[in-house]
Amino acid sequence: MKLLETRIQQDGQVLGADVLKVDSFLNHQIDPDLMAALGQAFYDSFKDAPITKILTVESSGIAPALATGMAFHLPVVFARKHKSLTLKDNLYTAEVYSFTKKTTNQISISTKFLSADDTVLIIDDFLANGQAVEGLIDIIGQAGATLAGVGIVIEKTFQKGRKLLDDRHIKVTSLARIQAFEDGQVVFAQD
Ligand code: 5GP
Repeated sequence: MKLLETRIQQDGQVLGADVLKVDSFLNHQIDPDLMAALGQAFYDSFKDAPITKILTVESSGIAPALATGMAFHLPVVFARKHKSLTLKDNLYTAEVYSFTKKTTNQISISTKFLSADDTVLIIDDFLANGQAVEGLIDIIGQAGATLAGVGIVIEKTFQKGRKLLDDRHIKVTSLARIQAFEDGQVVFAQD
């Protein structure tokens, strides 16, 4: 998606060998017009699937997932990383190793928001090693729901997440695909 690639070129910051900081439009400050365009692009890609729910993980997945839910007019559910007084029973849970924090989190979704009647579209901000998406797929399996596919805002093709999903024949739509970081610059994959 050209609009997103241009924004990454303008505002993204490469950190070290494998991390892109996009906190001016996605991960801290959020550009709502850009989110709406991303949501529309995911809608265009998955509109023929019988989707009933959009699923993501807090917190950075929520903005693009909400925009997608608005395009589909469907509910958005986000997995929570912390249990609380109001979220402790009747949960689906999965362990997720965080690429950016280098810690393992338990993610949870209340059983009342996902069931065997659901067909789910997963949306997330980044695809790196695929751990966040794998955790969500695990939860979809626990609920007996069906996975329609995965929409990713920024995929890093040099990490293993995409291959894991391709090997399982899961439909993945990534709106920007980064092949490498070279001298602090982003190199996009040419499809
Ligand atoms: P994975 O689970 O695929 O290894 O990593 C995906 C998660 O890690 C995303 O939900 C995102 O929050 C975070 N992440 C992975 N790579 C990056 C990156 O290059 N930049 C930022 N800002 N977050 C990333």
